[in-house]
Amino acid sequence: ISSKKNYQLDEIKWKSLNGRVIPVRFYWNEGENQSGLNHVKNITPEMMRFFSELFCDYPFEKNGYATLNELFIFGGMENQTLISLCSNCWDEELIAHEFSHQWFGNMITLKTWADVWLNEGFATFAEGLWIEHRFGEEAYKEYMRIQAERFFQSENKFPIFNREWRNKIPDIGTLYNGEIIYAKSSVVLNMLRNVLGDSVFFGALKSYTNDKSLQYRNISTEEFISRIISYTGRDIGWFFNQWLAGTHFPVYKNYYSITQRDSLYIIDLIFSQENDENIYYKMPFEIQILFEDGSSANETIFNDRDNQNFRLVYSKKPIKIYFDPHDKILLKKMYVKEL
Ligand SMILES: [Zn+2]
Repeated sequence: ISSKKNYQLDEIKWKSLNGRVIPVRFYWNEGENQSGLNHVKNITPEMMRFFSELFCDYPFEKNGYATLNELFIFGGMENQTLISLCSNCWDEELIAHEFSHQWFGNMITLKTWADVWLNEGFATFAEGLWIEHRFGEEAYKEYMRIQAERFFQSENKFPIFNREWRNKIPDIGTLYNGEIIYAKSSVVLNMLRNVLGDSVFFGALKSYTNDKSLQYRNISTEEFISRIISYTGRDIGWFFNQWLAGTHFPVYKNYYSITQRDSLYIIDLIFSQENDENIYYKMPFEIQILFEDGSSANETIFNDRDNQNFRLVYSKKPIKIYFDPHDKILLKKMYVKEL
């Protein structure tokens, strides 16, 4: 293929966790943004170390990035060991996404197109992890809120996991749907992190990426779920079933009342959902109670059916109740009313 432009090549060497010297090559075109390119070169060793420590040691013998011309219509393409980028796209977040595919997509590859969310959900989620590493928890939460909002705004509502895609591959706009396969999947992983807690969640991720029976092999969604259940020892099939098969999100209609009986204060909670689909989303649900004396309490209840009642009893006076104060269930709408 002839090109008017000439490729320029820069190379750095990075030492992997187990001591291998990994060449990292940057192929760029004349006229491209040098400060962007230099920034990417500067953060590359830290990014390689970050993901290697989080998942497993970098799984290939080299790494590289090449910007293409305007005919390349995507942001990036995670080719094994040499990632394609759009013209002049020396962008940190894009690179975090594509680079994380070396583990999620290239080292462990999907079994059929039905499992595409495992690639794109993880890479989109990994962008968020990199943002959290670089800019802190609030930046991560903001990134996740943006992903949830992308899904809420989308006109398309179909499941993340579509078993029939195994045999019948949909059009590319459906297969690589940004709002569902990328954004919603990443928020589902974020909610899984909240449900399991960081140590269990990241422990499970590490077990997954270090699993010798999976490395340089393929996985299906069903196998992924059963592996996560076995790594965590938690029977969380229900979590995947609803979030992967569901088309929308829970719409909570929650009620509460506070009554006093002798020296005790009783909070009654009623949980219900009015969803645009025939699913009741089960989730652990965090409640924060603020007391008159300035103290507060956090309770997590497990809401697994419609019109479910919970009662909390305290010996000090509650003055305010917050439902899901940390937005752990990011994919939801919620209405709360005092009875
Ligand atoms: Zn991707």
